[in-house]
Amino acid sequence: MATRYTSVSTSILDAIGDTPLLEVEGIYAKLEFLNPSGSIKARIAKYMIERAEQAGLLKPGDTIVEATSGNTGNALSMVAAVKGYKMLVVMPEGLSSERVAISRAYGAEVVFCGDFHVNAALEKARELGGKPGHFCPSQFESEWNVEENRVVLGPEILAQLPPGVLPDALVAGVGTGGTLIGVGQAFRAVNPDVRLFAMEPSESCTLLCGEVALHQIEGISDGFVPGIFQRHGALVDEVTSVASADAVASMRQLARRHGLFCGPSSGAHLLAAKRVRELHPELKTVVTLFCDKGEKYLQDYFMGSAVQDDSELAEPSPFV
Ligand code: PMP
Repeated sequence: MATRYTSVSTSILDAIGDTPLLEVEGIYAKLEFLNPSGSIKARIAKYMIERAEQAGLLKPGDTIVEATSGNTGNALSMVAAVKGYKMLVVMPEGLSSERVAISRAYGAEVVFCGDFHVNAALEKARELGGKPGHFCPSQFESEWNVEENRVVLGPEILAQLPPGVLPDALVAGVGTGGTLIGVGQAFRAVNPDVRLFAMEPSESCTLLCGEVALHQIEGISDGFVPGIFQRHGALVDEVTSVASADAVASMRQLARRHGLFCGPSSGAHLLAAKRVRELHPELKTVVTLFCDKGEKYLQDYFMGSAVQDDSELAEPSPFV
């Protein structure tokens, strides 16, 4: 029986974290799309802002500025609303329209900069964030991002695994790299042999071959190798890739087969994690994350001509 909400909460931020760990198709998936604001990013948004407050970098009335492909923008907008800060979300055009609407719903201002990739938005946010009364959390660089994943999310997963079971592998797409590196550090601390797999779209294989191109796995492969990955990438054992079309087909199947209405990165994570199990049978306990909710992609994949009927739902091709 759920024991989580047995008393009155005082803030929606108290509902961040403590998400279920679900066994799905032989993989352990952390259901991060259930977080307030609809993604895993609620965790680092709250964490980075509270650390900045403790460090005296934010004071009442200040403006938070962040470059984002959308989910961190949504999450920071929620945190800013609760804590009374102004929020400026700097994001590229060409991403799902729901993310823009969600940040605005929380009262944030959205500034567009660049197309699809986050590079130009990053420059803009740095420039705006340097002004007096402004603070830029800098998720792609921030050690607080890594720290949340190491001290909160990672240990949460470890506590949820069956008694005596340790993770053999972690599979995670790289947006900031915070999840892969931070959770990876927590896993390594209990199992030095745990294998860490980075995942990126096969169309935009930035980590493996330095290429940047359009793809459909929003939230990862944002157009550059993030500072976090540059600093900690040596921890990672392997980079694996998933084609966008397969990620989207897998996302659709997650909803129809398992009632898990998530975004394309979740579909890609499941495919990549299953491949890791197939290719490495000795890795029995493979962990991944379902990062954001399907509602953020209604227009692109689930409405009007984007709706597919069952007959179109081919098995995703195993891999590229
Ligand atoms: N999936 C989605 C949907 C995301 O929004 C993100 C973060 N942008 C990730 C995966 C990757 O997480 P991280 O930034 O920790 O690498």
